[in-house]
Amino acid sequence: MKGVVFTGNRTLEVREFDVPVPARGEALIRIEASGICGSDLHVYRSASTPGQIGGHEPCGTVVEVGEGCMRLQVGDRVSVHHHQGCGVCDRCARGETVSCRLAHHCYGVSRPGSFAEYMTANEANCIPLPEPLSFADGACMACVGTTAYAALRRLEARAHETLAVFGLGPVGLSAVLVGRAMGLRVLGMDVIDERLALGLRCDADEVIDARQGDPVERILAFSRTAGVGWVEGVDCLVETSGATPARECMIPAIRRGGRIAIVGVGGEEKVINPTQIHGKACTLIGSVVFPLGWSWDFVHFLLASGMRFEAMVTHRFALEQAAEALRTADEGHCGKVLFTPHEATSA
Ligand SMILES: [Zn+2]
Ligand SMILES: [Zn+2]
Repeated sequence: MKGVVFTGNRTLEVREFDVPVPARGEALIRIEASGICGSDLHVYRSASTPGQIGGHEPCGTVVEVGEGCMRLQVGDRVSVHHHQGCGVCDRCARGETVSCRLAHHCYGVSRPGSFAEYMTANEANCIPLPEPLSFADGACMACVGTTAYAALRRLEARAHETLAVFGLGPVGLSAVLVGRAMGLRVLGMDVIDERLALGLRCDADEVIDARQGDPVERILAFSRTAGVGWVEGVDCLVETSGATPARECMIPAIRRGGRIAIVGVGGEEKVINPTQIHGKACTLIGSVVFPLGWSWDFVHFLLASGMRFEAMVTHRFALEQAAEALRTADEGHCGKVLFTPHEATSA
């Protein structure tokens, strides 16, 4: 089978591998869709790479189950959660396998990932993907989609509220989609034309270009027209850009008593002033990925709400087109970029 390996400094190779054999408690999955994520781009750009098949947003069909599997059967459609823990430590006990202390693995980093025709995965990581959901939906929920859902869940976002989403890459666009599906009024902010257009395509009520004018003024204006009328500032804010100028707008843009989730990885600049937090009586949380069980909840959410990810998918590539696929994602003038290893089409 073919698999994509990052070879450092924005280079990669499409290599031939043997189809892997599932170990005890694992399944072999035929990959139908696999997303390129911002964290793949960090690896792609860096000089040192894991030296194995990349990709951690897998979705596909179970074609073989290893000994000891209890739930999965051949033919099951699954979305695979990418973090695997020891199952023994305190953090795993809380579902936070992403920060496992003893034996943390991430697909595409410390074990072979999904930029391939097939991959093996731990049975517990395989989340059922019922038929109305597409393989693209399954790839988008595997990492970015559920990350956005988790941020809004941690913020306890409610249907009558207003939400600002900073950064309209795949996580931000997911936050727009989930926020709208929850019933919130949503404003998106970015600095790239294509991403602003995608924000509207994902049903944002309004998008603003942070390069023009005073973004905080425009967010406050949105909160007045979308909300009660004279409440200044949005109820909830999800920061996905990691950019310092966006982070500086967070507290000024929130209403008194509002809630902010910091999702985007960014620089180390000190942009938060505790006096501002006190003055706004606001809540700031860091939101990193999600507990495994929330993937199951998110499938229910997609089924119940009718929300789908197709509006944010802009490109589909075959594995042979990996160089072009990564270049496209790296340049950022796009929404979600997917590999569809068994169905070579470009969108
Ligand atoms: Zn990811
Ligand atoms: Zn653990």
